[in-house]
Amino acid sequence: MAGIYLHIPFCRQACHYCDFHFSTNLKHKEKLIQAMVQEAVLQKDYLQQESIQTIYFGGGTPSLLSRAELDQLLDTLAKNYSLAPDMEITLEANPDDLSPAKLQSLKAAGINRLSIGIQSFQDRHLQFMNRAHTAGQAHSCMQDAREAGFRNISIDLIYAIPSPDHSIWQQDLATALELKPEHISSYCLTIEPQTAFGSWLKKGKLRAIDEEYAAQQFELLLKTLKEAGYEQYEISNFCLPGKYSRHNSSYWQQQQYLGLGPSAHSFNHKSRQFNISNNNLYIKAITGQQPFFELETLSRANRINEYLLTGLRTKWGCNLEYLKKELNYNIEEEQQRLLKELATNNYIRRESGSLVLTDAGKLLADEIVSQLMIMEEA
Ligand code: SF4
Repeated sequence: MAGIYLHIPFCRQACHYCDFHFSTNLKHKEKLIQAMVQEAVLQKDYLQQESIQTIYFGGGTPSLLSRAELDQLLDTLAKNYSLAPDMEITLEANPDDLSPAKLQSLKAAGINRLSIGIQSFQDRHLQFMNRAHTAGQAHSCMQDAREAGFRNISIDLIYAIPSPDHSIWQQDLATALELKPEHISSYCLTIEPQTAFGSWLKKGKLRAIDEEYAAQQFELLLKTLKEAGYEQYEISNFCLPGKYSRHNSSYWQQQQYLGLGPSAHSFNHKSRQFNISNNNLYIKAITGQQPFFELETLSRANRINEYLLTGLRTKWGCNLEYLKKELNYNIEEEQQRLLKELATNNYIRRESGSLVLTDAGKLLADEIVSQLMIMEEA
């Protein structure tokens, strides 16, 4: 079982908090998509004909793709990979791109899951973050997506946006619930150095995010979504029963995947590949048949630490047999004292052969995982 990720590195405008790889210059979009088509063919043996269960168009803003570009990418995958008949095909979209006609076209192209970058339902907050859409578009695109027949929709929401109190965040959560998305991903606003917010922070034009304020909003998020019947199946991801993101869950459960496009990563248990994070250099490398990725061979410690880092953030936790058999790591023996202490403090428990964080443990996930990580072997 495997997945394919396609990174579409273009956006209409740069959000002030974003440090993903994208360009607001769309001049070379066509050339870049052709290079991605070429990469899909070049990499056709990477997953060794494993059955592809999920395809994920991420970015950037994949809703900027034209129908012809989307069809070409999907056709190339169909010709070169073993696609499962019931694949989850997700496309990340921004509300300002989702006209009724666009939504119908996406549905007809085979997209069966949308991940909509709503982030906030408040115009003031959207403008503060330099999002390209309005609160009105955030509402209407959900309704239009339902009318176009989408039955599996995820929305993104950002918390800890500076505000005098929590009332706006509570309103955002209430609005989200009225729209009944099947899935919600919610991340704390972070200020990364290479972003507009990062430069404002440096110049003293913006204050750092208050950790206490962010923690209170996170707790409000957990409580509100739990009461509304959403399951927190990963620290930042919530869904109605059974509506997990199959694609992201497969990352967290260590399944292999191929990443296509600039800055995309690939993983096949033994190594990780990192594609060039520059649109022009990527196009040049692919078309000139030059190397277009860096390869990192994964050590045993890399693999164990990564599994702990991703697995413990999920409701499935880390499987003890997998650690023992695949990674040659008997964590219960080697970390006996620490695990006992974490269990006594009610941060971790053993459940169906896996180590799982409790609700209290989830609030300290980063700290707990860093304690459990192992050192690189000499
Ligand atoms: S639309 Fe998404 S990828 Fe593009 S700048 Fe904004 S947050 Fe980043």
